[in-house]
Amino acid sequence: MNVEDVRFPTSKDLTGSDAIHTDPDYSATYVTITTSDNNLKGYGLAFTLGKGNDIVAECIKHFFPLFNGLSIDEIEKNIGKLWYDCADHSQLRWLGPEKGVVHMALAAIFNALWDLIAKKNQKPLWQFVVESKPETIINWLTFKNIEDVLTKDDAFKILTKSQEFKKERIEKILKEGYPSYTTAAGWLGYSDEKIVELCQKFMSMGWKHFKIKVGLDLEADVKRLALIRQTIGDDCSIMVDANQQWSVEQSIKHINAYKQFNLLFVEEPISPDDVLGFTKIKKAVGDVRLATGEACGGRVMFKQFLESGAMNICQIDSCRLGSINEILTVLLMAHKLNVPVFPHAGGVGLCEYVQHLCMIDYVLINGEKDNKVVEYMDSLHEHFIYPCNLKESHYMPPLDHGYSVEMKEDSINTYSFPNGNYWRENQ
Ligand SMILES: [Mg+2]
Repeated sequence: MNVEDVRFPTSKDLTGSDAIHTDPDYSATYVTITTSDNNLKGYGLAFTLGKGNDIVAECIKHFFPLFNGLSIDEIEKNIGKLWYDCADHSQLRWLGPEKGVVHMALAAIFNALWDLIAKKNQKPLWQFVVESKPETIINWLTFKNIEDVLTKDDAFKILTKSQEFKKERIEKILKEGYPSYTTAAGWLGYSDEKIVELCQKFMSMGWKHFKIKVGLDLEADVKRLALIRQTIGDDCSIMVDANQQWSVEQSIKHINAYKQFNLLFVEEPISPDDVLGFTKIKKAVGDVRLATGEACGGRVMFKQFLESGAMNICQIDSCRLGSINEILTVLLMAHKLNVPVFPHAGGVGLCEYVQHLCMIDYVLINGEKDNKVVEYMDSLHEHFIYPCNLKESHYMPPLDHGYSVEMKEDSINTYSFPNGNYWRENQ
């Protein structure tokens, strides 16, 4: 096993900047798992915004000894137990438990292990997961601390029930793909002309859902929303993302003022940990749907939000949750509590990951996709050997084996930090 600190200098053109994260350098702690077969390697990553990527990378190394000498068959057979041994590591758990750096490190390793397992089975990961038997899948999961909401039995029933629809869902998804929304038309700071131009451009490419960043200037935001609604018409959807910047009181004021635009959802108005704050906002804004989850560390936090009634759109993140083992429990919990899942993406590698996750949610768990959308951002895909593939704004199911985040060698050599060619010349 090996880990690289890879950083892309996105702060230069402010790609992905928002009200809180003003200068991100989209980065990856990039794990490679080698095997005795030179043609079989697993690749996985966790996503960060630059500084601190090295800390996640260091943490990842602490888990390596747990896997030394194991065969791929042993790993596949015991992946559930291995996951919990890492999540509940007697010393490292003090740094979490099951959140923050230590959990992102776990996500990077298990993302790489799932890549390896899918490749060994010669399937794209989504297909490997949906074709696995419910009794096998159940053994990948841990229900500790969520059993009051989702039991092993509940999960087994959901997985078993979906078996009868599986074939037809797979055929449908291979043909239609899974709808996405774009965040690229409405960054804060764009001029009115640029917003209109971008909305028109994305509409002509097939997008019908537009997410806009909002700030502290209520009047300016209302003006921008009116302009966007006028440009895209009533058949398209608008959602807004406040990136954790408001207080509870400000959230209520802003959200009520936006009601006239019939928003699909309002994302992260306040701190991502403030479950009670979310419930206060929800009470005061009525049927406006609140979205959150990209900064929720684990299944236990999702349990709080999902049960509270204040997470109306569940935004899982592929590198913050502890990979497939934990993502599946959150998808199952959300399904049981009737909360739609709209995975968070963007960053680097996240779109490559969510294309598998939305297929798994559709085929294996939820069976509904026409009123749901997954985030898409057109950035940094050129560094991947198997980048995600969109057709008229729909993610098409990946067909290459694995979990899709193998990076090009040239990209790693150029952007590895601090000794890659780019960083040697630009520090
Ligand atoms: Mg967001």
